[in-house]
Amino acid sequence: MKVARILIIEDNEANMQLMVYLLRAFGHATFEAQDGEIGISTARQELPDLILCDLQMPGMDGYEVAQRLRLDPGLKTISLVAVTAYAMAGDREKVLAAGFNGYISKPINPELFLEQVEAFLPSEKRSRSS
Ligand code: MN
Repeated sequence: MKVARILIIEDNEANMQLMVYLLRAFGHATFEAQDGEIGISTARQELPDLILCDLQMPGMDGYEVAQRLRLDPGLKTISLVAVTAYAMAGDREKVLAAGFNGYISKPINPELFLEQVEAFLPSEKRSRSS
C-alpha cells in the first residue's frame, strides 16, 4: 500500500486535527506531537518518512527542532517541512538555513495540502501515482 508515515509537530489543536484528518483520508499514517521535545523523541522512536513542523510553539520553536534533528545522525536525513504562517520574503531563507527541506503556508488549504505534502515524499510513498 502506498502510504507514508508522517510525524506532525504542532501546538495548535485545530491545525493538528485538520492535518491529521487530511493525511489519514488519503491513507497516510500519522503521529502527533504537541511540542518540540515530544516531537524529537517521537521521531527517534518512529523514524517517520516525513516530519511536518510548526515554527511558532511555546518552549522549543520549530527552528530549534530543525537544528536538533539535523544534528542527530539517525534523524538528519528525514524530510522536514515547516508549516508556517510566516511565508514572507526572507523567511524562506531562514527556514531553509535552519535545515528544513521546504515549507507549507498556513492557513492550511484543504484542497492543496495533500499535494503540498506529497511533493516532499518519494513517488512510491504518495497516495496517487503521478
Ligand atoms: Mn504554533
